[in-house]
Amino acid sequence: MEIVVLRIGHRAHRDHRISTHCGLVARALGAKEIIYSGEKDDKLLESINRITEKWGGPFGCRYERSWKKVAREWKEGGGKIAHLTMYGMPIEEKAGEIRKSGRILIIVGGEKVPRDAYEISDWNISVTNQPHSEIAALAITLEKLNPNALKTEFKNARIIISPSEKGKNVRSI
Ligand code: SAM
Repeated sequence: MEIVVLRIGHRAHRDHRISTHCGLVARALGAKEIIYSGEKDDKLLESINRITEKWGGPFGCRYERSWKKVAREWKEGGGKIAHLTMYGMPIEEKAGEIRKSGRILIIVGGEKVPRDAYEISDWNISVTNQPHSEIAALAITLEKLNPNALKTEFKNARIIISPSEKGKNVRSI
């Protein structure tokens, strides 16, 4: 299964932390790449790439001015799109169907989401019908769609944590 996350409507100053965390969650839970659209923000890309260099990959991170172009090309390449919105259909009802598509682009909105995002998507998906956080919605969606989300393996890590009942077991390579 190939999962790519498309974060739309990024605002360089106000959304820096939330968009960074979307990237961290996407990487940790097994997405292949995150694509940012909205305001260009080199610091955001640097933050994510620094994490990948240190903690392993592969994980891609890039900026695209036109999110519609990304979505159109994804569909032309045979992929499907799931857009996360509190107005959509429950993830727990649709996860099975979405998983079957094999290549999934998950669109995560920002402050204002254009109507086109709802229309171009194959599924408009909610994680409860309550307003909350793009980071939480993305994490739960990845866990529901990717059976290996919590067991994602990383290559070329410079730091590895071994689980520990107490304390910190960290190895630097
Ligand atoms: N007011 C915006 C709109 O036009 O829909 C949403 C703003 S919300 C802070 C930002 C993003 O978080 C949404 O676009 C969506 O991707 C995600 N999100 C928030 N609550 C959600 C929920 N209950 N289910 C799925 N996604 C959610």
